[in-house]
Amino acid sequence: MTGAGAVDLVLATANPDKAREISEILGPQVRLLPRPPGAPEVDETGTTLLGNARLKADAIARIAGAASVADDTGLEVDALGGAPGVWSARYAGPDASYADNVAKLIAALDGVPPERRSARFRTVALARWPDGGEVVGEGVVEGRISLTARGAGGFGYDPVFEPSEGDGRTFAEMEPAAKHRISHRGRAFTALAARLREAPGGKS
Ligand code: IMP
Repeated sequence: MTGAGAVDLVLATANPDKAREISEILGPQVRLLPRPPGAPEVDETGTTLLGNARLKADAIARIAGAASVADDTGLEVDALGGAPGVWSARYAGPDASYADNVAKLIAALDGVPPERRSARFRTVALARWPDGGEVVGEGVVEGRISLTARGAGGFGYDPVFEPSEGDGRTFAEMEPAAKHRISHRGRAFTALAARLREAPGGKS
């Protein structure tokens, strides 16, 4: 804990896109500390978002000897039976780029009309202490997969995700603050911050 009730959390993610969004979303109540230099990448061997978020936060909490925060996100596409889900990062293969994953998704939905392209992003955000205490927040945003990629903002699947609460633009066509207000990650970290106020040391 720092002064004024703020919580110090070491960022577990090595992904600069996620790190930027997390620091934009969390207010002064959470002070994000950098990932320990040289900390190894954590293999996401879990079969759930919660399991993967816990693996990442626990590994960094042990290395840093301090509380750590991680998130894991999946894109669930109804016409694909919920795929790619927990395997969203590796949808097009173990070393897939964002563009590879988007291209595979658009190809998998070839011929599927707009009304059957419903999907959602789901994020689990998790803070974990070296003693095993933890606090969890989850966020979901409903939407659909566009017919083609549009927009240059955001990252990952943002160019093909049109949130239902928006005006037809994809996340990649929106300003970051507008995305965060309704996004899976915005909601998950807002929920996490609220729970941290109730259980600041990971114990309720
Ligand atoms: P992970 O949480 O790093 O495992 O993310 C899973 C996959 O979802 C990766 O391919 C990310 O690029 C993608 N992803 C995560 N968050 C977002 C987002 O906010 N928008 C678009 N794609 C995302």
